[in-house]
Amino acid sequence: RKMRLFTAGPVACFPEVLEAMKFQMFSHRSKEYQELHKDATLRLKKFLEADKATVLLIPSSGTGFMEASVRNAISPRGKVLVTVIGEFGNRYKETVERNGRVPVVLEEELGKAVKPEELDDALKKNPDVEAVTITYNETSTGVLNPLRELAKVAKEHGKLVFVDAVSAMGAADIKVDAWGIDLVFASSQKAFGLPPGLAMAAVSEEVFERARKIPERGLYFDLLEIREFLEKQWSTPTTPPISIIIGLDVMLRIIDRMGGKDAWLKMYAERAETIRRRVLEFGLELFAEPGYYSPTITVVYNPPGIKGPVIYEELRKRGIEIAKGYGKVRDITFRIGHMGYITQEDIEELFRNLKEVLASLGFAKR
Ligand code: PMP
Repeated sequence: RKMRLFTAGPVACFPEVLEAMKFQMFSHRSKEYQELHKDATLRLKKFLEADKATVLLIPSSGTGFMEASVRNAISPRGKVLVTVIGEFGNRYKETVERNGRVPVVLEEELGKAVKPEELDDALKKNPDVEAVTITYNETSTGVLNPLRELAKVAKEHGKLVFVDAVSAMGAADIKVDAWGIDLVFASSQKAFGLPPGLAMAAVSEEVFERARKIPERGLYFDLLEIREFLEKQWSTPTTPPISIIIGLDVMLRIIDRMGGKDAWLKMYAERAETIRRRVLEFGLELFAEPGYYSPTITVVYNPPGIKGPVIYEELRKRGIEIAKGYGKVRDITFRIGHMGYITQEDIEELFRNLKEVLASLGFAKR
């Protein structure tokens, strides 16, 4: 049975993408594979405006690149300014710690974005950090950080800029070279609407230079080795998820056909706007601070006296899956994801059913 997915990922794939992935396997050392890898990489490079930076596709979920950023570019026991606006900022902090580096945390009240002045202050107080990490879109709170402005501040202080764009890439703009981003990564199962299993990243020359000075980069996520394979043979050191790369290639072609990057990002912005408007029309309240709303996930306060997981279960019975609250706000919110293949009819069905479910649970609009 088809579930209408408003999850935080995996999300629904375009039918055309699913169709294209029904493909007999071939070797990742073949000419056919090289052509595919090259085409997908160059298309993503264009989408990310990463002429100078190197675009890498590797078999991993997004978190793999989070770890790779720390292992390849931060000196052993080096300091990193980690901005935390929710659960995924905490994951970056933990990644830094577990790899023997030292996080210096700039934390915001949940629901808020990091402001450029605050980052500037934190960097003045901690001039010895080597990098700044930014969660572009915090999936647990539905907040989109002002990436361009934050990256600008970090660059003014001469720091590396690492960006977790797992739930942003493909929906919120990223101009890798122009914004001075040193490493940005995402997962396939989010805004590009692909199956999980592929990590995508853009990496600056400075990261590779630093990597040369760090001997213990590990094996799987050695970015120098990954780049070497790309340059020598348009492939990866370990076996790539070929089907998903076919999916990515097709998805990027669909985006071009739909009018290119700007038209695609506009589609995402409008979809998010519609969902927020409908939520507010119900008399529900948004968790994120105004001005920093996520284009990919809307986090909503539970209506008084109603538990998020109950709404979740009731909607599932009706063939609709949303996402439960996550992290510290688990008990006070529920989430409506809006990534991947979602039709106007899906949105109508979501709100028709949500209205009935809320009414059955005794929620009356005030
Ligand atoms: N960062 C963010 C912002 C995320 O939303 C997620 C997944 N929900 C992750 C990191 C982890 O991604 P993955 O599961 O692909 O490793």
